[in-house]
Amino acid sequence: MDNSVQDSDKYETISIESKIREGVFHKVVKDLETGKAVSCSCKCWSKGKKQCAAMRSID
Ligand SMILES: [Zn+2]
Repeated sequence: MDNSVQDSDKYETISIESKIREGVFHKVVKDLETGKAVSCSCKCWSKGKKQCAAMRSID
């Protein structure tokens, strides 16, 4: 649906299971140039623009 970060040369999507909610996965988008997480599918990021635990684990 959202194709803005689908450039596979620059970004990698990593699924990380939530430690708080079993069976819930964070789809973290990692910028391969900087090695940092730039986006996540979860509510923390998509609604609050707060880095979640999964995003922080990538930095
Ligand atoms: Zn997340």
